[in-house]
Amino acid sequence: MMPSSQAFKIRLAYATRGLTAASHLLHHGKHSPYRFYSAASLPSASAVVVGAGPGGITVVGNLLEHGAELQTGQRKLVWVDPHFQGGRVNSRYREVPSNTKVNLFVQFAHEVSSFKAIVKASPKPNALTALQDLPQDQGCRLSYAADMCLMLTKGLAVHPQVQSHQGEVTSATLDERTNIWTVGFDDGQHVTTSKIALCTGSSPVSKTLPAIEKLHQSLAPVDLDVALSPSILAETFDPVANTTVAVVGASHSAILVLMNLVKLASSSHPHLRIKWFTRNELRYAEYMDGWILRDNTGLKGQAADWARQNLDNETFPDSPVSKVITKVWTAGKEEEAYKAELPGCTHIVQAVGYARNSLPRLEVIGKDGGDAKPLQLEYDNLNGRFYKTGGSNVEPERQYVPGLFGAGIAFPERVTDPHGNVEYAVGFWKFMKFVKKVVPGWVKP
Ligand SMILES: Cc1cc2nc3c(=O)[nH]c(=O)nc-3n(C[C@H](O)[C@H](O)[C@H](O)COP(=O)(O)OP(=O)(O)OC[C@H]3O[C@@H](n4cnc5c(N)ncnc54)[C@H](O)[C@@H]3O)c2cc1C
Repeated sequence: MMPSSQAFKIRLAYATRGLTAASHLLHHGKHSPYRFYSAASLPSASAVVVGAGPGGITVVGNLLEHGAELQTGQRKLVWVDPHFQGGRVNSRYREVPSNTKVNLFVQFAHEVSSFKAIVKASPKPNALTALQDLPQDQGCRLSYAADMCLMLTKGLAVHPQVQSHQGEVTSATLDERTNIWTVGFDDGQHVTTSKIALCTGSSPVSKTLPAIEKLHQSLAPVDLDVALSPSILAETFDPVANTTVAVVGASHSAILVLMNLVKLASSSHPHLRIKWFTRNELRYAEYMDGWILRDNTGLKGQAADWARQNLDNETFPDSPVSKVITKVWTAGKEEEAYKAELPGCTHIVQAVGYARNSLPRLEVIGKDGGDAKPLQLEYDNLNGRFYKTGGSNVEPERQYVPGLFGAGIAFPERVTDPHGNVEYAVGFWKFMKFVKKVVPGWVKP
């Protein structure tokens, strides 16, 4: 039998030959770089990873690093996603300027051996060389990071220990008599495993804020994803109509939206105006001695530079953006402020955070057998595990659910900086650092 590392190299050679070769292979089935399996052919898996965004890519790479402990044997790691297209960074944020430096994306692609093998086998130029050609200590358009995700996905999908299954995981049921999970797919099939990792991502919060809902005003909502993509945003407004867009929030995303709208107002949409509703002062990430203050919550990169130059209380009055943006301070007087200022608006963009996508139905069959019951869970942001709610919340006494893990933006690490500030660590490199730290505990028999 061919050693698996050699088989991987051969498959990688197919998978990384470039688009023309890849599409030829796809059409000729047998050696397709993406091997999608029907779930019926997956009776038992060494692990199931749900989601193929940056979080899922990170987890697959790190689980493969521990192949021996995973006791893969003849069993594969089953990787599930409806698209296998790099998650939201590719589907939604390609035009967004990154808030992390290029070198962190490059580092990400070299951190585990399966990624390194993919990088090595990929003919140049490729998505990684494109990143390497950029200034390393600056940000970049996220399309570069998205292309790297696509390259890694394509390579991982042909790893001999990985079976990709195109579809959604709809349920996962733990049998406490055996500690085996039965994972159900949207095509009605299932696979059994002792380990399942949820990397299912998050989406913008779209529910209208209560203070705004009360006003019953008919404003056209602009999806945050749309507002983050200048090319799509430009198509949203009539270039000759008087348009006033309410932007709610002061996060990184809110500032990017303001940047995009100001660009439109000063080019193709001269009648566009913006009312910016904020209850927080702008907060910036600060580079300290070996660490970053507000690393996950402060403004960084292009958004920070632009905000400093144009939006800060000191710079705003003299900035050209003050001709198109009206600042509306809402702290302590939300209802009053919205009541006074929203009526002049035609559209609204809410940039008020991201929330976990809905999870597969999680259930448990108890030690005495019987019907499956819903699992009520909390996530432990320090070790990537889940524990049952209702029991003790004291860490050593927590009832951890065997074999269930989470990572990525929906399940980030909780970190405490040297000043004692607590944040949730989100980003490619942060997912990598966290998953690398916790996976040895996940794979312990
Ligand atoms: C505006 C913005 C800018 C950002 N900029 C940066 C940056 O500059 N640098 C950086 O490092 N990070 C950045 N991030 C953070 C982070 O890297 C991205 O949000 C990233 O997309 C998160 O990856 P993920 O895999 O956790 O989630 P997602 O990208 O959302 O991927 C989740 C995947 O899971 C799949 N899925 C969901 N449910 C199921 C199911 N039931 N069955 C099967 N599959 C399922 C989805 O189809 C999707 O493919 C940014 C985030 C935002 C919002």
